[in-house]
Amino acid sequence: MVSRSLPLRLPLTLLLILALCRSAFAQEVTVDRIMRIGILRDRTVKQVLVMPVRDVCSIIVDGQRKGDLATTDGLKVQVVGGKLDARSLNMVITGARQIEVRPVSAKGHFRLRVPETKMAERTYPGSLGVQVVGGALQLIDRVPLEAYTAGVVQAEAGKEHHLEYYKLQAVSCRTYALTNQRKHLPEGFELCDGVHCQVFHGRNRDDSIRMAVDATHSLVLVDPDIRIIHATFHSNCGGETMNAEDLWSKSERYLRATVDTFCTSSPHATWQKTLSRTEWLGYLKRRYGLGESDSAQLQAVLDYEPQCRDLYLGNTWPLVPLKHVREDFKLRSTYFSVKAQGDKVVLSGRGFGHGVGLCQEGAMRMARAGRSYTDILHHYFTDVHLVDITTLDFFRDEDAEVPVAPGGPKR
Ligand SMILES: [Zn+2]
Ligand SMILES: [Zn+2]
Repeated sequence: MVSRSLPLRLPLTLLLILALCRSAFAQEVTVDRIMRIGILRDRTVKQVLVMPVRDVCSIIVDGQRKGDLATTDGLKVQVVGGKLDARSLNMVITGARQIEVRPVSAKGHFRLRVPETKMAERTYPGSLGVQVVGGALQLIDRVPLEAYTAGVVQAEAGKEHHLEYYKLQAVSCRTYALTNQRKHLPEGFELCDGVHCQVFHGRNRDDSIRMAVDATHSLVLVDPDIRIIHATFHSNCGGETMNAEDLWSKSERYLRATVDTFCTSSPHATWQKTLSRTEWLGYLKRRYGLGESDSAQLQAVLDYEPQCRDLYLGNTWPLVPLKHVREDFKLRSTYFSVKAQGDKVVLSGRGFGHGVGLCQEGAMRMARAGRSYTDILHHYFTDVHLVDITTLDFFRDEDAEVPVAPGGPKR
């Protein structure tokens, strides 16, 4: 197991400066950074209805302000001949390339309906940009980072969790968003709203989540070189998390294997899958050339009990990477034992997900046991620091390469 001692590499003086600057910057910087999120990416949308909430919205057409849309009105936008047509009670727009629906004040947001689908109406913070891409509408929510973070925590973490758990989720989701800002840049936005990036279905309505996001306002996780980390997480580690390099080939010093005693009785702590002996041995022969005549090899793959997280099945030759077995059989994790029972083979597993970084069910139990969100983050991420994004911008080299995530946040 790797040490989880307090950070030593970051010079103390720099930490002190960062801490001092946080309060100074907090007073100066009041505007959140804006994220561009591609929304409703899982469907083809040809028509939307946008309705302002709590304040009027300005309608901007191809860069020119066309007028205001009242909270009692709605703007129907659709694709006509490869361009945008739009109509409200007192506005008609034809042949536009871009339309923006922008609330005139911070309290304003908008409701979104897709008339041709069964999607329930959603409410989004920020402003909406619409254009035609590939014959359909491309919808981009330009949303302040904190409002986006709250929406993601609501969609990703679920209901009725401990406040400390929501706080660590807020820090993780905010951190993940900034690390992965370049994922969709060629498409004209930063992150999508699905599991590929982070699930985002609009405005948060939960008071606990709002409190958690406010309490951790602008805080992100950085490594000792002050680089924003890949804040990866998974449902349940099965009792031990994994080193990043064991899954993605690339090592990260903050993503180290850690023993977790908190998640082992949680809902996703164990799983089981039964296969026929023929299917199991046939697969190993086909894919890895395992000979059925070698009794030692057979024994290794029919009676296997990992003592800790292994990388290879039965530690036999030829090597059978457990991550491939997981993908091929759609298993919940790579952490499982194998037992032959007659003509069946039973795989008994622990955990759910890739096992790198933060274990959500372990973190939930730690929060309920009274641990603070900072303690929990330091448990799962080795030698990291919590810093305010505004101070980070000040100290960061403008040309520094923003790291690209090795994979999605989960699974
Ligand atoms: Zn994405
Ligand atoms: Zn765990």
